Formats: sequence, C-alpha cells, structure tokens
Amino acid sequence: MNVAASLLDLVAIALFILGLHFLNAPPTARLGNRLAAIGMFIALVMVLVQTLGIGWWAIALGTVIGATIGIVAAVRVKMTAMPQMVALYNGAGGGAAALIGVVEYAVFLASGHSALDPVVAISLVLSMIIGSISVAGSIIAFLKLQEVMTGRPITYPGQQVVNAFIALAIVGLGGWFIASAGTLPPAAFYGLLAAALVLGVLFVLPIGGADMPVVISLLNSFTGLAVAITGFELDSVLLIICGALVGASGTILTVDMGRAMNRSITNVLFGAFGSGGGSEPAAAGSGGPQNVRSVSADDVAVMLAYASKVMFVPGYGMAVAQAQHSVKALADQLEGRGVKVLYAIHPVAGRMPGHMNVLLAEANVPYEQLLDMEDANPEFPTTDVALVIGANDVTNPAARNVKSSPIYGMPILDVDKAANVIVLKRSMRSGFAGIDNPLYEMPNCAMLFGDAKASVDGLTAAVKAL
Ligand code: NDP
Repeated sequence: MNVAASLLDLVAIALFILGLHFLNAPPTARLGNRLAAIGMFIALVMVLVQTLGIGWWAIALGTVIGATIGIVAAVRVKMTAMPQMVALYNGAGGGAAALIGVVEYAVFLASGHSALDPVVAISLVLSMIIGSISVAGSIIAFLKLQEVMTGRPITYPGQQVVNAFIALAIVGLGGWFIASAGTLPPAAFYGLLAAALVLGVLFVLPIGGADMPVVISLLNSFTGLAVAITGFELDSVLLIICGALVGASGTILTVDMGRAMNRSITNVLFGAFGSGGGSEPAAAGSGGPQNVRSVSADDVAVMLAYASKVMFVPGYGMAVAQAQHSVKALADQLEGRGVKVLYAIHPVAGRMPGHMNVLLAEANVPYEQLLDMEDANPEFPTTDVALVIGANDVTNPAARNVKSSPIYGMPILDVDKAANVIVLKRSMRSGFAGIDNPLYEMPNCAMLFGDAKASVDGLTAAVKAL
C-alpha cells in the first residue's frame, strides 16, 4: 500500500509540474489546467485513502463543501473580479497551513509529551506564522479589490515602526517556541498567532493602487512556503513539493511583475504607492484633464481604414465591456482592407497577470499578433493609429517624465509616439492608480467616448460602410 501510495503521489506531483509547463503558452494552457486538476484529484483521493479509519468522513465532507464552493465561484465570477477570487483562494491555502500548526500544537498539549521534536517545532511555528500573515493579508487584499474598503494605501505616522515592533515580537516568540521545544506557556503561543495575523493586516494596509497585483502574487508565494513547511510538520512529500511549486512560481511572478512595473519588493512593501507621496492624484470622478479633443466614430473609422499599421492597446475597460469579440471583428474588417493590425499587451494591463491574453485568446486573436511591451514599444513610432481600448494607467506618459508622479518609473506602452492616438473610454475618470493621464491632452490624441464594446462595434460598422 505504501509503495502504491508513494507512486500515486509521484503521479500527482508529475501532473502538477506538467500542468505548470503547459501553462507556459496560451495554446496549451487549458491542457495544463486540466492536468493539474487531475493531479489534485489524485492527491485528494490519496489523502482520503491514507486516512481511512481516522476521520476520513470529515475530509470527504470538507472536500465536497470546498469543491462545491470552488465550482460555483469559478463559474459565476466575472473576469474583472478574478484578482479578488485569487486573493481569497490564496488566503484559504495560508489559513489551512496556519490552522494545521494550531491543531498540531493543541494535539501536542493534549498528548502530555514533554517536548516537540525540533524539526516539528521549527516547521510548526514557521508554517503557522507565514500562513497567518498570508491569510490575514489576503483578506485585506480581497476587501480592497472588492472595494469593500478603500483601495488606496492607508498610512499613519510611525506605521513602519509599529510593523517592525510586531515583527520583532514574532521573531522573539517564535524563537522562544523553538528553544523551548513547544513548552512555552500556551498564552505566548496564541499571542504569537495573534501577532502574525495583525502583521498580515498591517503590512497590506499601506499597499494600494497599481501595487496590488504584486502584493497578491507575493502573498501567493508566502502561502506556498507555508504549505511546503507544513509538509515537514506532517511528513508529507506531496505537500513539500506542491508548496515549493506554488512558492517558487509565486516568487517568479512577483519578481516579474515588480520588474514590469520597475518596483523593487521593498518599494512595494514600504513605498505606499498611489498614496499621493508626490503630486496629489486626481480622485476618481474629479473630472481629470480638461483640454481634450473628442472625435466621432466616423472620423476614427476613416483614420483606421486608410492606415497601414494600427496598434490595439487593450486594458481593463475592454474586460469590463467584454469587448474582445468586437475588437477581433474590427481587426478582421481592417485586415480585409490590407491594414496591419497588432496588439500591444502591458504586463499589468487589466486586473490580473495575463488578463488581456486570456480575453483575446477567447476571441481567437492569433497569438503572433500579441506583442509584449518590449516588442510593442519600438513599433509605435511607425504606427498610424494607436487605438487604446479601455487602457489608462499603462499608457500614462507621466510615468516616464513627471518625477513627482506616483507612477514615475513604471514602464508604459509608448502610445503617444504613434502618429494618432484614439482613446476609447466612457468619461475622463482616472484608472486604477487614481491619477490623471496627460496623454489625453496631447495634440496627437483624441477621445472616443462611450462603452468600449459599443464604440468598437460602431467603428466596425463605420469601416464597413466606407
Ligand atoms: P486602468 O484601470 O488604468 O484604466 C481602465 C480604464 O478603462 C479606465 O480609465 C476607465 O475609464 C475605462 N473603462 C472602464 N470600463 C469601461 C468600459 N465599459 N468601456 C470603456 N472604457 C472603460 O486599466 P489599465 O489596464 O490601463 O491598467 C491596469 C491597472 O490595474 C494598473 O494600474 C495595474 O497596476 C492595476 N492592476 C493590475 C492587475 C494585474 O494583475 N494586471 C491587478 C490589480 C491591479 P472610464 O471610467 O472613463 O470609462
């Protein structure tokens, strides 16, 4: 049985790794997802089989409840609410790791043993601390993204001193737990648990604006780490390897997103991005830039139809309007007239990594037309029309040249270098980072106001009619 169980664990692990590998490219991503799901199913069955006789029914019940919630949530969630869902799922993983630590400690207390094994003591306390920070931080990230609380950074005087003090208390109590092999007074252990939860809340509060994707991915890597350490506590190779995979991929994603936004992790954690540290950002709805030119769909259609190269620049607004199929129809129409159509994809456009790629793949846009920021930017100076479809922050030239801007230094798509820029949005409201976009007042830029889907459909009809 043990050999068979180990082999099946190995199959599950291999499926997770293969799944991750296939997620590397959009055409194989669905297969990757399915393989990982089969791996997860095998892992769950193995846990059930291994616990037969000791509360397997509780695990079965938990599996059914968890799977039901997961399926209903995944089916019903809007693409625009994916980051919140990821934050919650991530929190669940961290919370599970923390709970296992608490339960193992309670079992140890009840067992009457005099001391914990050193490996168990270290892994128990580490997984409990990291898991608690992750679950509490993820809940705050969820509340911010769901707009239950303000998405802006929440700062107060002495914040970093308070955080440093709590972190020191955690290190002290954690060290005491390990040195005493778990025999410290229970109140100290539960104090440690409370301190880790409070630190999780406090460290996400000052993060906001465009840094949220980075912090979600950072919390994801914390959860992976907590789960891997729990593997040592429970002597489970499956957990160690799966946790390491999550931790490593979360870390790679965090580093990549930080790089894409030109932000170091310390800057994300302690920089309070978007708090108005430089120029005060325009509050959403404040009206924004005033000297803007508005154009009609007919004018834009002429511009597009007689262009030789058009670059579509999708952003969050395309996701909100679900305009991806309309965008593909417009591209088909233009290509039919011999216009070269490309898509410029910013790494943090939308509200989750790969958001634009997923939407455009759904509309069957050929992958080779999707250009990453590094490949798209050299194309703009020779582009006749950059059609910005519900993107804002990722096109903001203030990031390049306004030192006082909160997004100064973040690499952007250089749409302003195109001969003409047409921006499709509904109003002059700001984007996620809550700041004005000087692009809109540039002489080569004009606004086509309206819902992105309606505007793109209008453009397709107008191009057809030419
Ligand atoms: P932004 O949030 O900067 O701007 C989106 C724009 O779309 C808004 O200005 C809005 O203007 C417009 N819009 C909204 N709905 C519609 C609609 N139905 N039709 C037309 N326009 C619409 O989006 P970007 O993609 O440019 O930038 C992403 C931002 O989100 C960055 O700041 C990034 O850091 C952040 N972020 C990214 C995550 C990721 O992982 N990708 C996760 C979390 C945050 P109006 O209201 O006037 O229509």
